[in-house]
Amino acid sequence: MRASDLKSMEMIGHDPKTGFPILGHYRIMAMGITGLGRLYKDLNQSLGADKMDVLLTRFGYDGGLAHATVISDLYRFDSPEELLKAGGVMRRLAGLAHETITEIDFNPDKKQLRFKGIWKESFEPDIFRSISTGSDTPVCAILAGLVSGYASAVIGADVLVKEISCKAQGFDHCTFEGRTLGEWGLDLADVRKEFKITDIKTEMESLKSNLEQASRFIADQEDEINALKQQIRPGSMDTMIFRSHAMATTMTLAQKVAPTAATVLIQGESGTGKEVLARFIHDQSGRKEEPFLPINCAALPSDLLESELFGHTKGAFTGAESARKGLFVQAGKGTLFLDEIGELPLSLQPKLLRAIQEKQVRPLGGSTLEPVKARILTATNQEIKEMVAEGTFREDLYFRISVFPITLPPLRNRREDILPLARHFLSRLSPDHPGFSPQAIQHLEGFSWSGNIRELENVVEYGVILAGDHQRILPEHFPNQEAQTGTHPMAIFGQSLPSCRELEQQYIRHVLNQTNGNKTEASRILGLSISTLWRRLNRS
Ligand SMILES: [Zn+2]
Repeated sequence: MRASDLKSMEMIGHDPKTGFPILGHYRIMAMGITGLGRLYKDLNQSLGADKMDVLLTRFGYDGGLAHATVISDLYRFDSPEELLKAGGVMRRLAGLAHETITEIDFNPDKKQLRFKGIWKESFEPDIFRSISTGSDTPVCAILAGLVSGYASAVIGADVLVKEISCKAQGFDHCTFEGRTLGEWGLDLADVRKEFKITDIKTEMESLKSNLEQASRFIADQEDEINALKQQIRPGSMDTMIFRSHAMATTMTLAQKVAPTAATVLIQGESGTGKEVLARFIHDQSGRKEEPFLPINCAALPSDLLESELFGHTKGAFTGAESARKGLFVQAGKGTLFLDEIGELPLSLQPKLLRAIQEKQVRPLGGSTLEPVKARILTATNQEIKEMVAEGTFREDLYFRISVFPITLPPLRNRREDILPLARHFLSRLSPDHPGFSPQAIQHLEGFSWSGNIRELENVVEYGVILAGDHQRILPEHFPNQEAQTGTHPMAIFGQSLPSCRELEQQYIRHVLNQTNGNKTEASRILGLSISTLWRRLNRS
């Protein structure tokens, strides 16, 4: 028969067992162009265009061999030329392209073949368009591979196909040429490289080593940049070093609220870096070129705090020899950060409420109101809600400042962050320091860190002083644990001496409490699998 005798409808059947459409015994699979687009994009990104072409061509080549096997199993053709043309039907049935062979010159005795053809509506330029706008070179690598494999099987000799012009280059359709190896002459090496994969592993290794070198270079540069950043504003990025999930959640919230004008209440134990987070929010906002003014409400007596915040006129009180603008006004369009807001005296709370609510302040002794343009961030380590219930904090003010609460997790709930933070502090104190011994790291990660990041920073500094700049920091270089916790850890038991099992239960419950019932986190801290955790928790 001839290629033109093939009827697509006759060729497709169904596998009675699986129900899949089949061609002979060949399963027809449909793959969305979008999905392939993702594959192309990833291949291109991870291997580069040349390597990707080779992989796709080789992928096509084996497909072409399969096409030839299937069709020659199903039908007998009058000549190898007809069988060659019949390959186009396979490409069409697979939805790949409309393929037409336009010229064939075949010498069966010498096994020499040359042919030319066109692909209309090739699928590959369509995929390519989903990852790039256009291409200088042909992109139909899978098709070139398919026809190569197909033709090689047909004549029983190696045939290589090269795409000459491609729709992706702006042509109406794609054209290609296929020849047996000898027929390519001097162009052979060029055509063949599309099929060669032998050295890809070596190349991958050399690429990998280049990549590693580049990463090291980048890491060095980053260190340098970080060091420079530290010089500009020491400590500003300290607690922004994290890899824990708990901290990532907090930072996502901070990043989301930063560009808005919302009043933020930062909650967290002391030493967790509340001011650093406030500064981060300021830096991430449109106000970053404006002042960031922090004030600790616990640090000043009531009257001094009032004049500091709201300003005063000349002669407003004894000693007020000149007028002074308060921080609300000094902050301009920047950020005013009120730390330890829970310590703000009740008498000043209405004034703060008005500053936030009505956006104006009246200086002490003054009669005119001044506008407030600054954003207000507040922080506390107290349970303000409870203070509201007790009547020591105004409820209306609480609602004003807690529009967007963010909680900074204590260091013991973000243990993954301890080592990166410790290394960060160390590199700042002693840039070329050899680091911590494994035991020292265990020690750091095991501490309770009731003083949080600030305490960690102090302990690292203590360690560097004892170990010096050239010796690794060992556990004995840290302040001793008794001094850290204040009491011997076993002192809590007093006269009651629980069994190991009781103690274990208590401790598991304690850790669960600390992780807010998060069993995954608790099991990680305890070094138990989740199922073991459950079992031990439930045994009595
Ligand atoms: Zn093409």
